[in-house]
Amino acid sequence: MDDVWDLVIVGGGPAGSAAALRAKQLRPAARVLLLDRADFPRDKACGDGVAAHGRDELALLGVPDLIADYRPTRRLEVVSPGGARVRATVARPNHVVPRTVFDARLVDAARARGVEVRRHRVRALTAHGGHVVVVDGDVAARAVVAADGANSTVRRLIGIPASPAGHTAIAVRGYADVPADDDVQFIAMQKDGWPAYAWSFPIGDGTANVGFGMLLPRLHATGLPGREVLHGRLAELLPHLPARDLRAHHLPLSPGRPRPGAGRVMLAGDAAGLVNPLTGEGIYYALVSGRLAGEAAVQAAGDPLPAYRHALRKALGRHLRTTDVLARAAQSPGFIDAAIGTAGRRQEVFDLLVDVGLGAGTVPLRLGWAVLGRWILNGVRRG
Ligand SMILES: Cc1cc2nc3c(=O)[nH]c(=O)nc-3n(C[C@H](O)[C@H](O)[C@H](O)COP(=O)(O)OP(=O)(O)OC[C@H]3O[C@@H](n4cnc5c(N)ncnc54)[C@H](O)[C@@H]3O)c2cc1C
Repeated sequence: MDDVWDLVIVGGGPAGSAAALRAKQLRPAARVLLLDRADFPRDKACGDGVAAHGRDELALLGVPDLIADYRPTRRLEVVSPGGARVRATVARPNHVVPRTVFDARLVDAARARGVEVRRHRVRALTAHGGHVVVVDGDVAARAVVAADGANSTVRRLIGIPASPAGHTAIAVRGYADVPADDDVQFIAMQKDGWPAYAWSFPIGDGTANVGFGMLLPRLHATGLPGREVLHGRLAELLPHLPARDLRAHHLPLSPGRPRPGAGRVMLAGDAAGLVNPLTGEGIYYALVSGRLAGEAAVQAAGDPLPAYRHALRKALGRHLRTTDVLARAAQSPGFIDAAIGTAGRRQEVFDLLVDVGLGAGTVPLRLGWAVLGRWILNGVRRG
């Protein structure tokens, strides 16, 4: 067996790399090992949308220019399930960066900071003397960050259940040709099987990431093969953008209160069920939670988990509870019609929706009432 590592991270996606980068940033002498079953670059089914909030995290991790060579996307257009449309400039630009590039750059940055990266699929964990975790009977660590994604093996090994089906979405993504000057992130919501939507996120190189996602129970309710439904609806909603390289994956949507780990194991990113239930955004949450887990691993005097739980609650607690409440309200397409309709009239509402959907935003009470009022009004008009 190796000596005891200060930190072993399972998974080299945004959550795992953020943990690695932060740990070495705070304690350059820390011995940090990053294990991933894949070699990088590797693909990951994703919309490739990196929100401005995610870029703030890159800056905090000491890699502010990681994606500076990608074109900023300033415009966002959303069509609600009932046809309300908003097209506006976002307060701060987003980026669209293929995950083959984004994740490999993060892993390279961690390696450059002194993190040891090994290709290895983790299968087993055992506690050893209460202070050390042994991974696959081979590697001993004072702390483990499980950043092994939506199907997390580590989460299962420590006995934390996966997201229930009602909190699981499934989405397919592909790539399509678009004019090189297309710089509008487009989201088309669908009433049939709601919540469901298609997106087109132009990268800036003449291609766009295009995709379609919906809740898993709604997909099952169709009684049709998943592939047929997902591919069919994508083609139906974006008929002018035939997609190639289609790949699907599920998304563990945040239930509002994540369970951040057990013992000396901290869950981060998708492994912790940290995906925004309104938008499917998960890269920002992965970066934040990974950063906080890496921080706790090298800074906490004793057991890092309480420190991590506290930091995560402070950073995202109120926001996650907000998105949980909004996701429940959003089960009614009329609520989203009202929210998008209001955003179309008031830039500050648009900005706030972006902040809640892509960052750590919460909703001021008066705004909640404004949307509620419109929702009721729409209902009265329809009735
Ligand atoms: C179709 C789709 C579209 C999406 N679009 C967006 C979007 O536009 N913007 C956004 O912000 N989010 C989006 N998301 C969500 C986003 O992809 C995830 O939230 C994000 O990838 C989570 O990062 P992570 O580091 O937690 O996990 P991942 O990126 O999944 O990384 C997990 C890593 O763990 C490794 N691993 C797994 N098991 C093991 C094991 N046993 N041993 C060792 N290594 C292991 C994997 O190889 C992988 O490298 C989308 C998701 C889907 C499915």
